[in-house]
Amino acid sequence: MSAYKELYQQVILDHNKKPRNYGAAPDANRSADGYNPLCGDRIHLTVRVDGDRIAAIGFEGQSCAICKASASMMTSTVKGKTVQDAEMLIQEFRDMTTGKLNPDEAAHHLGRLTVFRGVADLPSRVKCAVLPWHTLHSAFHEVRETTTEGEADPVPGSQGQV
Ligand code: ZN
Repeated sequence: MSAYKELYQQVILDHNKKPRNYGAAPDANRSADGYNPLCGDRIHLTVRVDGDRIAAIGFEGQSCAICKASASMMTSTVKGKTVQDAEMLIQEFRDMTTGKLNPDEAAHHLGRLTVFRGVADLPSRVKCAVLPWHTLHSAFHEVRETTTEGEADPVPGSQGQV
C-alpha cells in the first residue's frame, strides 16, 4: 500500500510540475469543455484527428492536482493512437476508477495509468480523475460541453428553470 501511495504521489507531483501537452493542439478539429462541479475542475480539450488517428491533443483549464495529472497522462497515452483504442482506454479507465475493473485481475491496456487505481477508494476524487477522459469522449462525439453530473446523458434536462 505505501509503495503504491508513494508512486501515486510522485506521478501526481511530476505531472503537475511538468504537465504534458498543456496548451491548445495545433490545427485541432475536435474540442470539448468538461466541468466537475463537485471540485470545480474545468478542462478544455482540443484534438486533431487525422483519419482515425489522434495526431495531436492538448488540454487547458483550471483543475486540482488529480485532474491535471490525469489529463497530462491521458493526453500522452492517447496521442498517436486510434480513436477506437482511445475509446477502449476511456472505458477501462472509468471501470478501474469506479472499482468495476481490478487491474490485477482483468485484461486491460492501462499500463502506467493503473497508478490511478487508488481513487476508487476516494469517491470524492473519482470525478476529478475521470473528467479528462469524459471530456475526450465528448470531443470524439462532438458534444461541446459536458459535466460529470448526469454521466449517462450530457444534455442537461429542462428541470429547474428560473
Ligand atoms: Zn478535482
